[in-house]
Amino acid sequence: MSPQRPSYAVYWRENRRRWYLFFALWIGFVPFAFVVSRLRDDDTLPNWAFWSWGILWLWSGTRLGPKKCPRCGRPFLRRGWYSNGFALKCMHCGLPRGAETDPDWSPPK
Ligand SMILES: [Zn+2]
Repeated sequence: MSPQRPSYAVYWRENRRRWYLFFALWIGFVPFAFVVSRLRDDDTLPNWAFWSWGILWLWSGTRLGPKKCPRCGRPFLRRGWYSNGFALKCMHCGLPRGAETDPDWSPPK
């Protein structure tokens, strides 16, 4: 059996899913606040609703961005003390962000 080109599609799909959750929670606060305040007699948003939604949203924000590179396993956005949250390539091996396969891969001879 010949070696297969490595696939990182599952890793990047999970990464996109986390972004979708973050934006859904961000955008969803307004309808959430509207519905919760309508359920109350005084039409206000209770503190527990505000804080629980906010903590959920902050938690989703901490999970954003590639943490470890799927190819080299080292931090994708950080090299030593230097960190770049907008890096388009792995700071160690240069794997492009979102690459579903390894562009530098070649079958062993
Ligand atoms: Zn890497």
